Amino acid sequence: MKTVLDNALELVQQTAELLMLEKHYAGMQVIERLSMPDKEIIFRATIQLDNGPVKTFQCYRIQHSNVLGPYKGGIRFHPEVDLDEVKALALWMTFTTALADIPYGGAKGGVMLDPKTLTATELERLVRQYTQRLVNDIGPNLDILAPDMGTSAREMAWVFDEYRKHHADAYGVVTGKPLALGGSLGRTEATGRGVVCVMLEAAQELGLQNYTVGVQGFGNVGSHAALDLHQRGIKVVAVNDITGSLHNPQGLDIPALIRHRNQTGGLGGFPGGKDLPEFISYPFDVLLPCAMENMITGDNAAAIQAKLIVEGANGPTTPEADKILMARRVMVVPDILANAGGVIVSYFEWVQNREGRSWDAEDIKQRLFAYLRQAYARTRETATKLHVSLRQGAYCLALERIVRTMIDRGVQ
Ligand code: NAD
Repeated sequence: MKTVLDNALELVQQTAELLMLEKHYAGMQVIERLSMPDKEIIFRATIQLDNGPVKTFQCYRIQHSNVLGPYKGGIRFHPEVDLDEVKALALWMTFTTALADIPYGGAKGGVMLDPKTLTATELERLVRQYTQRLVNDIGPNLDILAPDMGTSAREMAWVFDEYRKHHADAYGVVTGKPLALGGSLGRTEATGRGVVCVMLEAAQELGLQNYTVGVQGFGNVGSHAALDLHQRGIKVVAVNDITGSLHNPQGLDIPALIRHRNQTGGLGGFPGGKDLPEFISYPFDVLLPCAMENMITGDNAAAIQAKLIVEGANGPTTPEADKILMARRVMVVPDILANAGGVIVSYFEWVQNREGRSWDAEDIKQRLFAYLRQAYARTRETATKLHVSLRQGAYCLALERIVRTMIDRGVQ
């Protein structure tokens, strides 16, 4: 069976063929270069558990490409993290930052772990050790960390604090920090808010009106996207997470659902909705997959009733599902465009840290929307010009920017 990395590499290869890179830039071996990360750091971290015994965890930091700027990417804590997944996530970051037109490369970190199985003090020991082991490989101008699945501002604070024991210039080594430690207003909600921003562009293009939305995954990205929709008066009629699915055709009360999730750890038992046996085939008009990879597959794509899918998660749609959706004329806004809001506001945080001042919340929101609307418009224009999907258009734009920079820099 193909891995997410195989799928990611296949798409890059197809894009290179579409752009006829070999013909135009013969000898540059661009694809060979982008097919392998610049550096793979793999290690084990051992910590003492609160009740005495020690436990060892498999850890990764993959630095994919720094052609456009310092490596940049989140840290994922999840039991299914493996080398191929982190390599795919790092490659996607290279393409996300290139498409968003921000001066970063791509990287990703991961620890194979279910964070719910550790106490806060155990997690802190693990994050500090993870940072210590990378202390000479990361830095504000070298490789900048951020939150991803299973991590949040709390873990980023520990990264910052551990790194600053070794380096005086520490603020920019990690984004998504708490505000008191130089974090940015609007960073926590940035990815979900960005998903909604590009969803609005796509819905307008399709002429959708009075539409309903289903949100898959109710963590950072999914719950903030749902909250933004709720605040705009757009009905979220179904949500799902690892604990189950809920629906309410009148629209779910998202602020109440977030409070319920925070108190109980999941969606089950929420009084304002009914259990839903099959989330993916529910008749919402727009689907926001905001959980993880491979959620929309060849087995379930035909059952989807939505006319528009906006990928908040990384890699939620398999290539097989993509073909089915394309044949059924379901519009898909790809992950490297739809979830770029997080890294864009991370970039704003890094710039604020360098300037030593804070921008206000409205300023950040408007700058974020400007970046995303431009990226959407450029992607649409490219896809139309080349008669390809939005996903392929997004990859073409990103790859062109990387190749142009390689040529300008004289990287052979
Ligand atoms: P998170 O850990 O906060 O939330 C993940 C959510 O997905 C949880 O609600 C969990 O229950 C749900 N989930 C996990 N497995 C599931 C399954 N099999 N079925 C249904 N639900 C499932 O993670 P997050 O930060 O919201 O990230 C979600 C996705 O968005 C990931 O693909 C991540 O790489 C991507 N992303 C996150 C950010 C960010 O800023 N956090 C930025 C860009 C992309």
